Amino acid sequence: MSVPAIPASSSDENAEAQAAGRAKHASVFWGLLPFVWPQNRPDLRVRVVLAFSMLVFAKLVTVSVPIFYKDATDRLTAASNGETVSTGMGLAFGVAMLILAYGTGRVLTMVLTQVRDVIFTEVGQNAVRHLNNRTFQHLHRLSLRFHLERRTGGLSRVIERATRGIELIIRMGILNVVPTALELALVSGILFYYFDWRYVLIVVATVVVYMWYTFAASERRIAIRREMNDSDTDANTKAIDSLLNFETVKYFGNEEAEARRFDASIARYEKAAIKTFRSLGLLNSGQAVIFTVGMTSCMLLAARGVMVGTQTIGEFVMVNALMIQLYMPLNFMGMVYREIKQGLVDLEAMFALLEEHPEITDKPGAQPLEVTQGNIRFENVCFSYEHDRRILKDLSFEVPAGKMVAIVGPSGAGKSTISRILFRFYDIQSGRVTIDGQDIRDVTQKSLRSAIGVVPQDTVLFNDTVLYNIRYGRFEATDEEVFAAAKLAQIDAFIRSLPQGYRTMVGERGLKLSGGEKQRVAIARTILKGPPILILDEATSALDSHTEREIQDALDSVAKDRTTLVIAHRLSTIVHADNILVLEKGKLVEQGTHGELIARNGLYASLWARQREAERAREELAQALQEAVRSGALTPEDVAIEGAS
Ligand code: ATP
Repeated sequence: MSVPAIPASSSDENAEAQAAGRAKHASVFWGLLPFVWPQNRPDLRVRVVLAFSMLVFAKLVTVSVPIFYKDATDRLTAASNGETVSTGMGLAFGVAMLILAYGTGRVLTMVLTQVRDVIFTEVGQNAVRHLNNRTFQHLHRLSLRFHLERRTGGLSRVIERATRGIELIIRMGILNVVPTALELALVSGILFYYFDWRYVLIVVATVVVYMWYTFAASERRIAIRREMNDSDTDANTKAIDSLLNFETVKYFGNEEAEARRFDASIARYEKAAIKTFRSLGLLNSGQAVIFTVGMTSCMLLAARGVMVGTQTIGEFVMVNALMIQLYMPLNFMGMVYREIKQGLVDLEAMFALLEEHPEITDKPGAQPLEVTQGNIRFENVCFSYEHDRRILKDLSFEVPAGKMVAIVGPSGAGKSTISRILFRFYDIQSGRVTIDGQDIRDVTQKSLRSAIGVVPQDTVLFNDTVLYNIRYGRFEATDEEVFAAAKLAQIDAFIRSLPQGYRTMVGERGLKLSGGEKQRVAIARTILKGPPILILDEATSALDSHTEREIQDALDSVAKDRTTLVIAHRLSTIVHADNILVLEKGKLVEQGTHGELIARNGLYASLWARQREAERAREELAQALQEAVRSGALTPEDVAIEGAS
């Protein structure tokens, strides 16, 4: 009989998880250090040293304040008991000086702390900026697959929270943990000097128990905070997703369903937030009890000392003042611990992003692509996005330099995939893709991508001006070059007709422009880029047939002398292509010129026949509508609505 394996106890697992968590936090903490002590910024390092000197000085002043207080009390007590030897004036002067010193000490403590914080702000902000920059650049290095799988709302939230985390760790950790430890050491020294070891023992024991309690309670709270963060991110992503899909929500009248979905995430957040605050109350109360027990014990001891004559009243007062002063940073320490841990949790997410390896990388020593003619070859290419579903199957074809090759085929055949592979958004599993004999995996991605211009299927624009969006093709281009490109793309006249002309804002993702206008902007910026190789992915899909014809001329002139790969649905746009590849389920089933393929009477011929049929039907409908308008059965407005739908 086999004995079932004994599962690890949950406390073992907890301990392991906690140890792993601590190791991760430590690595995040060390990872942050180079940003706080930047090698290339001696000025910032000077600031760090200055800030630390300030904090040591401030603490020395802080602990001397209760001593002034003690001396003043003792002098006044002696005077009231008639034990003093000084004259009235001398006594008043001495006490006044002590009280002044007390006041000055308190002011100095505050001022020095503020100055220290201001000095350190620059270091902190510099760290925030560099880490943010590094993450942003890294996000752009990651693959398309990563971005398709991650949600943008979630990503921006991670960065936002990490920014707060860095600030907290720097400000609270470095500028509070060190001074508090220093203060504890100084207070212990003073207690030992004026009193005895029992006081030191009570204070140290109080601080140890206080810390232990704070850390333990905070650990519990961090798990709750994590849940709060997760539900916050979730609610935020849902809201962004829902608003981005504003039109779709309206098409289906699903506002209520969206609100319910959003509310479900917010409800999770609400529950977690209440739990967080409840645990905060518990933590604060516990801290107050522990510290008060310690402080009253010291005061009882001191009171007894006063009664038996070993301690002065001033010392009784001083012990209270010292403890209350220590309580302030300690009380803050509880928050510091919580916030640092929280900051570390937030930063952990950002560091995890930074550790994400880009799927597509340049080979070590990769050379720039040298385009001599622009000849593209796919040799026995097999590719799948996911393991169990092959998209391209042993695909081989050539796009000779300067020629136009079109890829056609049913939806989902893998046409756009070919352009993504050529642009190296994904690497293939077997076979080879070359440009002028150079495997695209051996050259730098930057050079490869700068050699290829893409007019994509769905054009998304930046929420900026039309001018900015066209100039995106080549930032150095002059205004005249931008206008010339827009003219070629047949969009110049339209832009100039807008009240703000080229300065018109296009709205988020370019939504203020029609599909055809967006596409022409995309064509203009590709013209401006002026690459030797061109990929037109359904480039004229969003245009009506009149505009399409106009733009087709523009595209033809752009494509002239350039190697061009056209991914087309409307076969009428590619009848003049030098070669047409017919793709079906990732396989090349036919190729040839339009005439050859029609004569062959295969898949292409049937696609062509079907499209002609559809076009004829459209033409007949248009004629019928015109007829109806002429006979008065329909108004031109009715026809416009019909046409739109
Ligand atoms: P269409 O003419 O409709 O644009 P297409 O021939 O261009 O189609 P592709 O976009 O190349 O088709 O897609 C080929 C297949 O790969 C499709 O079945 C699609 O579902 C799948 N596919 C596309 N992108 C991904 C992805 N990122 N992850 C997984 N599968 C994908």
